[in-house]
Amino acid sequence: MAAALAAYQAGVKDILLIERDQYLGGILNQCIHPGFGLHHFKTDLTGPEYADRFIKQVAAAQEIEVSLRSFVVRLTADRELTYLKPGGMVTLQPRALIMATGCRERTREMIHIAGTRPAGIFPAGLAQKMVNIEGWLPGKEIVVIGSGDIGLIMARRFTLEGARVKAVVEIQKESRGLVRNVVQCLEDFQIPLYLNHRVALIHGRDRVEKVTVENNETKETFELTCDTVLVSVGLIPENELIEQAGSPDPAKPNLPGLFVCGNSLKVYDLVDNVTRDSQKAGEAAAEYLKNA
Ligand SMILES: Cc1cc2nc3c(=O)[nH]c(=O)nc-3n(C[C@H](O)[C@H](O)[C@H](O)COP(=O)(O)OP(=O)(O)OC[C@H]3O[C@@H](n4cnc5c(N)ncnc54)[C@H](O)[C@@H]3O)c2cc1C
Repeated sequence: MAAALAAYQAGVKDILLIERDQYLGGILNQCIHPGFGLHHFKTDLTGPEYADRFIKQVAAAQEIEVSLRSFVVRLTADRELTYLKPGGMVTLQPRALIMATGCRERTREMIHIAGTRPAGIFPAGLAQKMVNIEGWLPGKEIVVIGSGDIGLIMARRFTLEGARVKAVVEIQKESRGLVRNVVQCLEDFQIPLYLNHRVALIHGRDRVEKVTVENNETKETFELTCDTVLVSVGLIPENELIEQAGSPDPAKPNLPGLFVCGNSLKVYDLVDNVTRDSQKAGEAAAEYLKNA
């Protein structure tokens, strides 16, 4: 939305915003905690409030057409893109294209945790969507792997919803999250943080039953019973379409008229910085169109 608005303000009047979800806003919609907008709006907003400010601006810019429930599935080097939407498939070739497809979560498989493959293992962001948008609580006794901000925030969220968070297990010697999140999400709720430890084994037949936690240095182990494991071990830019179009390094796309911004370029901590850089992408696309 920030990129589309910046291009619009720079004089581009024929803009299509394609979104696969049923509403605009991306990941912000599920981030119902505060901490957004301190730089851009100079006020403390929740994720949905931050998104809403942009949704209103997009609605007011009448030449920005929005196509929801529209999933881009194909992109070629000359910017021919194909998307699926209710009722059909559309192919078009914009003169400039800005990719803002966000990121995806790393999974248990990517960090090679041994053990069985029972139900009850969720990427933390998916669990956040279940709790905050769908209204489901996917477990009652939780172990969180990874102490980045998403893991910390979800430890608090599950606690507030009545689940018991047994521990956050972090392989590094320090938390990767903000100090304020360690204090406000763990210490305030007496949730143990095991630094320099890893979840070495997941046990359970149909559902998760327990995990084995190992001290990285002493190799001593202990077990924690739980029915759910939240995996919060990092994000990966979602840029398959750019690769599909033939750009070997999606962070530096070398296709004319193609611009990339937000978490699909690199993983940002703060949405304010996503907005700032996406505005630059919108301005760059407008400049490209003037000279093309
Ligand atoms: C749990 C969590 C907590 C956070 N906390 C904070 C915080 O406290 N403060 C802060 O400033 N920031 C926070 N952030 C970071 C910030 O929210 C994000 O960095 C930012 O919102 C990312 O914006 P984006 O537009 O790049 O990506 P996204 O919000 O992921 O948007 C990408 C959009 O592209 C769509 N899309 C993807 N592929 C396709 C396709 N093929 N076709 C059509 N549409 C597609 C997706 O549906 C999505 O709507 C947090 C993030 C998370 C996950």
